[in-house]
Amino acid sequence: MAIPLHQMTRVGAYIVGQHLRGVKRYPLVLMLEPLFRCNLACAGCGKIDYPDPILNQRLSVAQCLEAVDECGAPMVVLAGGEPLLHREIEEVVEGIIARKKFVYLCTNALLLEKKIDQFKPNPYFAWTVHLDGDRQDHDRSVCLDGVYDRAVAALRLAKSRGFRVNINATLFDTAEPERMANFFDAVTEMGIDGITVSPGYAYERAPDQAHFLNRRRTKELFRDIFRRDPKRRWSFNQSSLFLDFLAGNQTYHCTPWGNPCRNYFGWQRPCYLLGEGYANSFKELMEETDWDSYGTGNYEKCADCMVHSGYEASAVIDTVKRPWKAAAVALRGIRTEGEMAPEIELGGQRPAQYVFSGHVEKAMARLKSA
Ligand code: SF4
Repeated sequence: MAIPLHQMTRVGAYIVGQHLRGVKRYPLVLMLEPLFRCNLACAGCGKIDYPDPILNQRLSVAQCLEAVDECGAPMVVLAGGEPLLHREIEEVVEGIIARKKFVYLCTNALLLEKKIDQFKPNPYFAWTVHLDGDRQDHDRSVCLDGVYDRAVAALRLAKSRGFRVNINATLFDTAEPERMANFFDAVTEMGIDGITVSPGYAYERAPDQAHFLNRRRTKELFRDIFRRDPKRRWSFNQSSLFLDFLAGNQTYHCTPWGNPCRNYFGWQRPCYLLGEGYANSFKELMEETDWDSYGTGNYEKCADCMVHSGYEASAVIDTVKRPWKAAAVALRGIRTEGEMAPEIELGGQRPAQYVFSGHVEKAMARLKSA
């Protein structure tokens, strides 16, 4: 089982509690970026294009744990940048575990072997190793030969030490269904605990703008991949309805507050993928963001987004409201043939605004004066 029972139970109880209390918007997963610095420079990454003084900034352990407390989400994803470059990342992990939150440390695994002794297996902790496909696909995705082999060696080591290990695969329009299916077979053989899969978000700052998927192509690609697993051997750590959404069988609007993002700039508006502004506190983010001005159909930059950080929460909320629907998908499997669910109309979306430079200039001025 990709998500352990005790985790499902705790997270399920949290969601039901929110619904019983009538909370309209609540976080499910805190996306915590303690730094932007990375030891890779992937073609599809829009997270690390900052001047050095910003890349040199770190959230302190106290700031990280304050964000965890402020947000209250039952799960925390440590992302970045490369979290293992943060010198006190094990203290951040320990602090999150002490709060009985589930923590996933996302890593390209290049430093995993060196740092593994600083971590201990724990039911609240899992590694999430970035692997976008087989050796050829992954090394092309991260723009460096040899990374796949090192990541696989690291994940085998982590498994041998008793850790839970997931992989996180981001798909672009270069993905070939047969090869992806073979890759999922291969990581399943390796004994990984779960697969997180998502189409890449078309980051405006990513060096390669040519290979992001549009929505139609995303759905066709996932149908082509899922139909290659008739025996359902692959263990995804995502909800059945989110996978069904990827295959074009659900019309969902995103839930950007489901995976709020805290990084050096503050609480990112509106979501993990888009940095259109920053709030000083989680409360301010939740209460003062104009949520209706974002999402597919509302904003041009959201037109092609089907990313898990935006839509997994939508699928999970649907699961809680209509468990029979999720159960039906889980039982019969994901439909990979037939008509797709209606697509969201894009005619009324507002045009994109380009605000990145303004945030960077302000931060640079702040750093200079400090
Ligand atoms: S569609 Fe939603 S999750 Fe995706 S970029 Fe837009 S606001 Fe963020």
